[in-house]
Amino acid sequence: MITSNDNDNTLSLTNMERATRQRSAIKEALQTAARPLLAQEVLDLAARHVPNLGIATVYRNLKAMVEDGTLRQVVLPGENPRFEMGSHGHHHHFQCTQCQRVFDIHSCPSDLAMLAPKGFRVEDHDLTLYGRCKDC
Ligand SMILES: [Zn+2]
Ligand SMILES: [Zn+2]
Repeated sequence: MITSNDNDNTLSLTNMERATRQRSAIKEALQTAARPLLAQEVLDLAARHVPNLGIATVYRNLKAMVEDGTLRQVVLPGENPRFEMGSHGHHHHFQCTQCQRVFDIHSCPSDLAMLAPKGFRVEDHDLTLYGRCKDC
């Protein structure tokens, strides 16, 4: 016969294991995709490995991983935040206007500072290209 104590212990261990599996599935989804993903896209990929994964759990994990530096948010104007690995160095993004997916661009134009008005000093830049991806 199973006592209620045994039950509780089993349950809390299972919950901890489950939380670890959820987090690693979410991280793996972002590593495998190698492009910024919406929370819904993370859910679609991670749910293959963690059945019954919900969007609230995905959001909670994404938020925690942004706070600890594992992930970084990519926010395009008027769009829900996307998430990418925080370890990526300086890079840019391409958004497909057909499928709305966002891809990484690993090169960077070096002469952007020349665009600034005379006497202004450029300290940073943000650049997004728009067009059609190779699948569209
Ligand atoms: Zn596309
Ligand atoms: Zn750049």
